[in-house]
Amino acid sequence: PVRTNNLEAFWMPFTANRQFKQAPRMFVSADRMHYTTSDGRQVLDGTAGLWCCNAGHNRPKIVEAIRQQAGELDYAPAFQMGHPKAFELASRLTQITPEGFDHVFFTNSGSESVDTALKIAIAYQRAKGQGSRFRLIGRERGYHGVNFGGISVGGIVTNRKMFGTLLTGVDHMRHTHDLDRNAYTVGEPEHGAELADDLLRIATLHDPSTIAAVIVEPVAGSTGVLVPPKGYLKKLREICDQHGILLIFDEVITGYGRLGTPFAADYFGVTPDIMVTAKGLTNGVIPMGAVFVKKDIYDAFMTGPEHLIEFFHGYTYSGNPIASAAALGTLDTYQEEGLLTRAAELAPYWADALHSLKGLPHVIDLRSIGLIGAIELEPIAGLPTKRAFSAFLKAYDAGLLIRTTGDIIALSPPLIIEKSQIDFIFDTLKDILTSLD
Ligand code: PMP
Repeated sequence: PVRTNNLEAFWMPFTANRQFKQAPRMFVSADRMHYTTSDGRQVLDGTAGLWCCNAGHNRPKIVEAIRQQAGELDYAPAFQMGHPKAFELASRLTQITPEGFDHVFFTNSGSESVDTALKIAIAYQRAKGQGSRFRLIGRERGYHGVNFGGISVGGIVTNRKMFGTLLTGVDHMRHTHDLDRNAYTVGEPEHGAELADDLLRIATLHDPSTIAAVIVEPVAGSTGVLVPPKGYLKKLREICDQHGILLIFDEVITGYGRLGTPFAADYFGVTPDIMVTAKGLTNGVIPMGAVFVKKDIYDAFMTGPEHLIEFFHGYTYSGNPIASAAALGTLDTYQEEGLLTRAAELAPYWADALHSLKGLPHVIDLRSIGLIGAIELEPIAGLPTKRAFSAFLKAYDAGLLIRTTGDIIALSPPLIIEKSQIDFIFDTLKDILTSLD
């Protein structure tokens, strides 16, 4: 039985987070850039929730859209039936996606979007008579959610090792970071194409004609903001094209304006075949994901009488009316307030403020792109994660929410942030880092 009178017992299964051994910190309300805690304090949201509340909190268009929709049409079956808001949303979204993405599959999370994309890749290859292409390639330190597909292609060994073989035939390219850690503090290093050649190594190892797709986060987020070196994604695209391999971008974090363009595909000028999104789609308010597919891919596996037998997919809540309404309210907010490009305007100010931390004790690397930042700290010997986590606690006490992953502090504020609030973030962190053990 769940003992809801015991905060600790309730919290542990709720978060599955080993770090929270004490009673939880509780947020009870939120507005624009701030959370209010259960003890009445204001905390500036330096992480947009979990990289998702791109328009900030309590945004009227989103709140109103949900309220109205709940009273009008609460649910419609996702199979056989439809409803207008899902179609309106699909059509609005395909106006902001890169050219050619004119089909969308709705899901309820990033993890579901990832697994949906992997299934689509394999279904497409089979439909093209390429049934021997069953392999999926991810990247070390890639994060693609917690479902079986996502942990298989994901590059975090500790997340997957207790679950046995998982998807078979998966392999991982090397990640984009350790090669020259400090290069990212001073600009984009040039060795991207060389690094992307690791896909060729993997392809040769397995025979490229057995590979269905490669999945990468354009900028790895959850594992510490790993910005790819120049030319990396372009070269991945070239290798995929040469060998008939599909390229999937997991844009769960980078999508919906985080880099100052609607999607990372726009930012890097590289178009994948399938694009995975969630989080910012509904401003994090209601669970929803969307997987975008190009017409030729969609046509290959979704047309013809066999497709329903061959490709069974869809969730009870796919494109449900309230989530669709929330996403439409979110899109309205993004577009009316110019939020899909606002990170581009703020990025130079943001980067300068971040780099002003250079030289502070324990800081071994600083990385930024769009409105994402990372401060990598030297771990305490034998106590990994401790230093960053104590920075987290101090920041929380000082009224700032940050996120830590290992000994990396990750920042991704709502895109409505003001310059004075950027100053607050980095002034607060400066004080904390100066006094950190
Ligand atoms: N992919 C990426 C790149 C993510 O960052 C995340 C979540 N942090 C996911 C997938 C999984 O999303 P969800 O937690 O909504 O399942």
